[in-house]
Amino acid sequence: MMSDKVNALSFFFGNITREEAEKYLRQGGMGDGLYLLRQSRNYLGGYALSVACGSQCYHYTIERELNDTYAIAGGQSHRDPVDVINYHSQMSDGLVCLLKKPYNRPRGVEPKVGPFEDLKEQLIREYVKQTWNLQGAALEQAIISQWPQLEKLIATTAHEKMPWFHGKITREDSEPRLLDPPRTNGKFLIRQRDNSGSYALCLLDGKSVMHYRIDRDKPGKLCIPDGKKFDTLWQLVEHYSYKPDGLLGVLTVPCQRPDGEGVAFQNIGRPPVPRNHPGQGATGGILSRIKSYSFPKPGNKKFMAGFLSKTTDNLNPYATRVENTKNKEAMPMDTAVYESPYADPDELRTATIDRTQLMLEDGELGSGNFGTVLKGIYKMRKSEKQVAVKILKNDDNNLAVRDEMLREANVMQQLDNPYIVRMIGICEAENLMLVMELADLGPLNKYLQKNRQISVRNITELVHQVSMGMKYLEEHNFVHRDLAARNVLLVTQHYAKISDFGLSKALTEEENYYKAKGHGKWPVKWYAPECMNYFKFSCKSDVWSFGVLMWEAYSLGLKPYKGMKGNEVIQIIESGQRMEAPLNCPLEMYELMKKCWTYKADERPGFSVVEPRLRDYYYDISQ
Ligand code: AMP
Repeated sequence: MMSDKVNALSFFFGNITREEAEKYLRQGGMGDGLYLLRQSRNYLGGYALSVACGSQCYHYTIERELNDTYAIAGGQSHRDPVDVINYHSQMSDGLVCLLKKPYNRPRGVEPKVGPFEDLKEQLIREYVKQTWNLQGAALEQAIISQWPQLEKLIATTAHEKMPWFHGKITREDSEPRLLDPPRTNGKFLIRQRDNSGSYALCLLDGKSVMHYRIDRDKPGKLCIPDGKKFDTLWQLVEHYSYKPDGLLGVLTVPCQRPDGEGVAFQNIGRPPVPRNHPGQGATGGILSRIKSYSFPKPGNKKFMAGFLSKTTDNLNPYATRVENTKNKEAMPMDTAVYESPYADPDELRTATIDRTQLMLEDGELGSGNFGTVLKGIYKMRKSEKQVAVKILKNDDNNLAVRDEMLREANVMQQLDNPYIVRMIGICEAENLMLVMELADLGPLNKYLQKNRQISVRNITELVHQVSMGMKYLEEHNFVHRDLAARNVLLVTQHYAKISDFGLSKALTEEENYYKAKGHGKWPVKWYAPECMNYFKFSCKSDVWSFGVLMWEAYSLGLKPYKGMKGNEVIQIIESGQRMEAPLNCPLEMYELMKKCWTYKADERPGFSVVEPRLRDYYYDISQ
């Protein structure tokens, strides 16, 4: 993640204030061009550069721009904040002087963690739990696969969880709440003024209540007129709780919301704010406690109101992306096939399906040598489920195919993961039928061929989900043996599932590989050298196939080793050559593919390594 990369910099101080930065630069001698980097306290994902020059300190915001580049406002864009610094050590380009020397963190000083950072995971977890009613592995996997989207949702709605946020109440209603004892100076609340994203900060000063408007400017930033601009209300509160900056005084005690709307405090175990912290008046840190709270569902108008209202002219990259989340990016958890069909034992008790409960629809989803796949509806006790039904063709000669289908069913029955097509059951009627979860958008390779405008971020999201499914298989000692883009089916443009377990095998405890008896009709272009040479299949050979799948995905569904015969491919691989990077493929992802194509299986990474690599890259480009 970008934040990890920056965190590792010796001159990055994290969420420190401007004054703390100046103190450090003074400690460093204030030589011209002495600088340090810190986290921006008002721009989400942004940084601040503090520079000493002529015994003065200067501070520049490094903003994260729409296309995920970084720049000092109005200046040249760069790939990351480090490049911005490198550039300005060569060219002042508007800066007060060249950056000469970094001021490194003194021994024992770690980058300071922002007030929201340590709350974030807790909030996200709570949010996912409540919104989709998930727990256990399903909850963890939802968080891992959708972290960037969830992070954005939470960052812009976190204020709703804060005790100081009183929602849409009038000025008249707010005053008695603040005047209610204890009348601590600086006691405050924020109320929503209207639906266009404007708020008011109400502050107790002596016996009177001050009301400051918080407006949303055209680009979507929040500010008290003529004041500093912020992406979110909680950043604004953080700022004014540490300095008045034009207000009558600092914010001290949050005025508790009187309603009972799930407002029960819950200490989340954040360490108390140190005594010398500037926000000390705020009884243990304003953001240090969150309440248990019922999150509204995404897409709910009320939930989105306030930060999505100025949609057309909203230039704030942050708000724009949240917008996207709302309109297009349904999350996997929003679909009917995220949660396990086995979660409710009253609904799915046996793997045998009664033909009378199954209705088949016209129109093929696909076909193969076994027969066809149709869409269907499975009527359960309480609900109906859309399903895909693999129907074995009625042919006396295909006992082998029947066997294969039963073996596939047997493997599928043992697997239960959101990124794998689950089996609902087997139905023996006019034909043998395998009833599965429906992945309506079909195979990944075909989808990409038809939807070429898809972003690298989106492809990475899908490929990462496949790696999560494969990691699950690896952990459960299954080899897939036919992993390819054609066997990844899409539920939505943002939700992929691995399918086709026709060749899959459960590994035994003794051996971590499966030895095939001989050559079959094999997808040679997806097979690792040891599969071809020794008929040996392991999770590591699935990793090789996964590399080919990645290549297919980033090339938008091209055929690998185009125009080559199986034998030629084997020769190429044996000679040490590998496929070239697809056009516009991110370098990081091509490097990962090549790792997957490590010749020796025991030197090849497993999915336990590949998945986090993809995850990091996905989070990084999603910021
Ligand atoms: P298969 O032989 O399992 O690869 O299935 C052949 C084709 O049927 C696939 O390429 C898909 O187009 C379609 N198909 C198979 N399973 C499903 C499913 N669970 N949901 C939707 N389509 C499916």
